[in-house]
Amino acid sequence: MNFIDLQAQRARIAPEIDAAIGRVLSTCGFIMGPEVVNFEAALASFAGARHALACANGTDALLIPLRAWDIGPGDAVFVPSFTFVASAEVAPLVGASPVFVDVLPDTYNMDPESLEAAILAVKAAGELTPRAIIAVDLFGQPADYPAISEIAKRHGLKLIADQAQGFGCTLNGRQPLDWADVATASFFPAKPLGCYGDGGAVLTNDPALAGLVDSIRIHGKASAEDMAARRYDNDPRYLNMRVGVNSRLDALQAAILVEKLKIYPDELVRRDAIARRYSERLAPYVRQVPKVIAGGFSNWAQYTIEHDARDALCAHLKTKGVPTAIYYPIPIHMQDVYSRYPRAPGGLPVTEAVRSRVVSLPMHPYLSEQDQDRVVESIASFS
Ligand SMILES: *Cc1c(COP(=O)(O)O)cnc(C)c1O
Repeated sequence: MNFIDLQAQRARIAPEIDAAIGRVLSTCGFIMGPEVVNFEAALASFAGARHALACANGTDALLIPLRAWDIGPGDAVFVPSFTFVASAEVAPLVGASPVFVDVLPDTYNMDPESLEAAILAVKAAGELTPRAIIAVDLFGQPADYPAISEIAKRHGLKLIADQAQGFGCTLNGRQPLDWADVATASFFPAKPLGCYGDGGAVLTNDPALAGLVDSIRIHGKASAEDMAARRYDNDPRYLNMRVGVNSRLDALQAAILVEKLKIYPDELVRRDAIARRYSERLAPYVRQVPKVIAGGFSNWAQYTIEHDARDALCAHLKTKGVPTAIYYPIPIHMQDVYSRYPRAPGGLPVTEAVRSRVVSLPMHPYLSEQDQDRVVESIASFS
């Protein structure tokens, strides 16, 4: 049994993927180009965004908007600690300070009260300027965007929805981007919408920001707006308006993603059915089955339960041939290199408690009922 079964998906669409790869090979256009433009259009339409800009990975997708907003030294970026390190890593990468916020015990997503308290504390201390919030759709479910965006607006902060895990999730039928300035995606192979390498995207409804992101992802090249504002008749890639980065998407990955996006809605339905079946059967044996925010639709990037004897349970499951994973054993604020950054007043008690209870189970759209029953029976036999 696999934790995530990429082979099963490949078997479903191998001819389409192979044809897409063959098309790119025959043109030898390997970086950006029409395949990327096609993919961006499909992605924007799927996500209900005015602009989708592909980039090299989900980390750059967070970094580039921070650069576009000139967030840097002396600035504070509020972020949960219970997430993959990249959510917070981008703050020091631009010279800013992450400020760690606690999560809610049921959804593991940013706690709006902890966020508000952290912003007030940073303002009172007067050393850092609050600039942005990075909310994470952890394990695939949407953060509490109505509450978080209200706080962001009231304090004049930018809001990024880190959808590296949660791309495709919704809240009351709406996309996180409806509340956020930017939503980001990662196409790392193990993410729900993965490619065959690294990839990412920035989604926004703001045309000026889209122009800046397009420029920064390609070494600060002149955007259409930059070009219109001055006389320059050469290739915009050689008129560099700002310090950018190299964060392009490969045409091969874009061509693969176009095919994968076509089956993604169906995969989301399958994931949801699998998660429901897990929860019905597992509830008697665990401390907590996943709880989704009211009105939320999760993509189930992870199916994560809580168990008081988590480590013994994992060892038991291993003997039964059931793979598990722990996301995340060390929250970011407890990692040595991040321990010097500020935290919300009162610390992060929920984060520090759940980290020793959470365990993620095999989850992918092609998980068979037999395999799922084996996972459930193996857990039942431990209790
Ligand atoms: C995977 C992930 C990222 C980074 O994506 P990469 O494509 O690996 O750079 C950022 N945030 C979260 C929450 C993630 O899970």
